[in-house]
Amino acid sequence: MHDKLFTPGPTEVRSELLQELSTPQIHHRAEEFSDLYDDIQPKLQKLLYTEKPVFLFTSSSTGAMESAVTNGVKKKCLNLANGAFAERWHKITVKNGVSADLLKQDWGKPITPDMVDEKLATGNYDAVTMVFNETSTGMMNPIKEIGEVVNSYDDVLFLIDAVSGMAGAKIEVDNWGIDMCLAGVQKAFGLPSGLAVASVSDRLLERAEEVEPRSYYFNLSLLHKYHKRSQTRTTPAIPQIFALRRQLEHIVEEEGIEERFARHDKLSGIVQDWAKEYFDIFPEEGYWSKTLTCVENTRGISVAELNKTLIEEHSTRISNGYGDIGEDTFRISNMADITEPEIRGLLATINDILGL
Ligand SMILES: *Cc1c(COP(=O)(O)O)cnc(C)c1O
Repeated sequence: MHDKLFTPGPTEVRSELLQELSTPQIHHRAEEFSDLYDDIQPKLQKLLYTEKPVFLFTSSSTGAMESAVTNGVKKKCLNLANGAFAERWHKITVKNGVSADLLKQDWGKPITPDMVDEKLATGNYDAVTMVFNETSTGMMNPIKEIGEVVNSYDDVLFLIDAVSGMAGAKIEVDNWGIDMCLAGVQKAFGLPSGLAVASVSDRLLERAEEVEPRSYYFNLSLLHKYHKRSQTRTTPAIPQIFALRRQLEHIVEEEGIEERFARHDKLSGIVQDWAKEYFDIFPEEGYWSKTLTCVENTRGISVAELNKTLIEEHSTRISNGYGDIGEDTFRISNMADITEPEIRGLLATINDILGL
C-alpha cells in the first residue's frame, strides 16, 4: 500500500494513468509518435487558452524555467519574488549567466502592478518572470493584472512558472499576454513526474533566435524546429507522454476544463474554511491558492508528528512548510484528481489525530 498524496507535488496519480506508462514503447521518429504528439497538442492549447505551440520537455519543471530565462533575455531579466520558488527562479537566472535583478516582496504578500511598473519604467529590462501559484506560501499571484503592466512595454517578455497551478486553475495564456507558461506534469495534472510542458509565443521564439545560445538541451529554436515536425529534439519520456495523452482526454473530454477548475475552487474552499476554523491561513486574504492551502500553525502543533501519524496509521501524506516557514506552516494540496469525499475524509482524520 502506498501513501496517498495530499502533497503539492508530486500528487496522487490515478491507477488508469499508471497503466498507460506500460504502453509498449514506440520509436520517437516513427509516424506513431507524431500522431501521439498531434493528439496532445490541441488539447494542451485548449487547456491553456492559447493558439501558440506547447512544447514538451523531458525534464522536471526546473528545466523549463532554465529554458525560459536562457532563451528569453537579451538585456536584463526582472525576477518578481514573494516566495521560495520565485526566489529560486532568480538563482536559476543568475546561475545561467543571465543578467537579472530581483524584485523581492515578503512571502505571502502581493507584488502590485505599480511596483512592477516602477521597475520597468527604467527601461533596463526585456523580460519579467513570475510564479503564478507560489507553492511555498499557497498564494495565487494576479498574473493577469501584472501582465497588463508588462505588456504595456514593448519587447518585455512575460515568463510564467505555472507549475502548481496549470490544469487546476484557469490561465488564459493568449489573453493575458504570457510569452511562456510552463509546468511539470507531477502537480495539478496528476501525472507521474518526468515531463514538463510550456507554451511559447512568437515573440519568445524571435528572442531565442537573437540571444547567444546558452543551452543545447533547452534551446527553444532547436525545439521549435522539431515541434514543426510533431517531434521532440531528443528522445522524450515516451511513457509519460502516453499518460499525458490519456489525462488530457480525461480533462478536456470527460471531466471538462471548466469543471476541473470549479472542482479545485470548491475543494480549496473546503480546506480554507477548515483552516480558518482551527488555524489560520498564511498568505494575505484575497490571494489564496485554488490548488493548495498553506495553513498557519497557530496552535503550535508538531507538523512532523502529525505527518508521521498520517503516514504510519492512515497511509496518507501532507506537506510540512517550505524553507524558512517549515514548522510555522503546513500545506494541504487539493491538486489533480482528488475528490470532495477524499478531502473531507483527510480533514476529519486530522481533526481526530489532533483532538479538535
Ligand atoms: C514544484 C515547483 C517547482 C519545481 O518543479 P520541479 O518539477 O521539481 O523542477 C517550481 N515552481 C513551483 C511553483 C513549483 O511548485
